Amino acid sequence: MFLMAPNAWLLSLAVALGSMSASAQTKQLGADLYAYVSDNDASANSTFLIGDSEILVVDTGLNATEGAKLLGAIRQISKLPVKFIVNTHYHPDHQGGNLTVGPDATVISTDYTRARTIDMANAPGMAGFHFRAASLTFQKLIRLYIGRHVVEVYFPGKGHTSGDAIVYFAEQHAVAMGDLFLNRSSPAMDDGSATNWIDALDHVLSLSVEKAVPGHFDVGTKADLQRFRDYLKDLYGQVRSLKKKGESVDQVRQDIHMERYSDFRQYPNYHATFPDNAATIYNQLKSH
Ligand SMILES: [Zn+2]
Repeated sequence: MFLMAPNAWLLSLAVALGSMSASAQTKQLGADLYAYVSDNDASANSTFLIGDSEILVVDTGLNATEGAKLLGAIRQISKLPVKFIVNTHYHPDHQGGNLTVGPDATVISTDYTRARTIDMANAPGMAGFHFRAASLTFQKLIRLYIGRHVVEVYFPGKGHTSGDAIVYFAEQHAVAMGDLFLNRSSPAMDDGSATNWIDALDHVLSLSVEKAVPGHFDVGTKADLQRFRDYLKDLYGQVRSLKKKGESVDQVRQDIHMERYSDFRQYPNYHATFPDNAATIYNQLKSH
C-alpha cells in the first residue's frame, strides 16, 4: 500500500492483505478512459486509456497476481496491446505488475522513480519481485497521443515521494494522482514535501477536473480532492504555528486538532496517521 521502506512494507503486507473489500471494480471516467479500483489496500488503483491500436495504463498493482487481475479487467473492454505504462512513483504496489500487464510496453516515469526502482530491484528481500524500471523518463512534462486522445504526464515537484508523476486526461476531465491523493485517508509521507504537495493539489484543482483516481480507495470528485488538500493545508498550518510556539515534535503530535477529518482512514502500520503526518511536516520544517 504505502511504502516507507521495502522491508517495512514487506512486514506490513500481511496485515494489509487482511483488509480486503469487495471485488475490484472498473469504472468508466470518460471517452475510452477507465479507472480500475483495487479490491485490497495492499495494491494500488490503476487507470487505463484505450486508443485506436494501443492501450496506456497508469500503475499496474503490487505483483504478478494483482497485475493479472488488472489485465483481466482491461481485457473485458479491449484486446489491444498495452504499449505504454506510466508509473506514478516507485512504490511496489504501483508498479509490481508492469511485466504482467505490459511485457512489451514502454514504461514511463520520472528519473527519480526510475533510479529508486533500480535500487529496489537490487535490494535484499526483493528477489521475488520482477520490477521493470522505466525506459523513458521526462523532466517536467511528456505528452502522449493515444488514438484521438492527448495525455499529459507531468512532475509537480516533491510530494508524496521525491518523484511523483500526475497523469492528466484533459478531454475526459480526469486525473490519475498516484498517492498524491487518497480518498478520505491520511497519507503516508515518504521523502517528499508537504508544501509542494499542497501546491501540486492546488494546481490540479485549477484544472478542468471532475474525477480524480486516487492511489487507493474509490474514485474521487473534485470536492474529495479539495478536502484532501484542505487536510494537508490545515495540518501544515497547525504544525507550523505549534512549532513556532516552541513545541517539540512529541507535543505537536498531541496538540493538533483534526476532528474535522474524523472520517479519514488512518494506518498506524504505515505511519499514516494524523500525528505521523504532523511529525513528518515538523521535520520538514526543521530542515528548512
Ligand atoms: Zn506510495
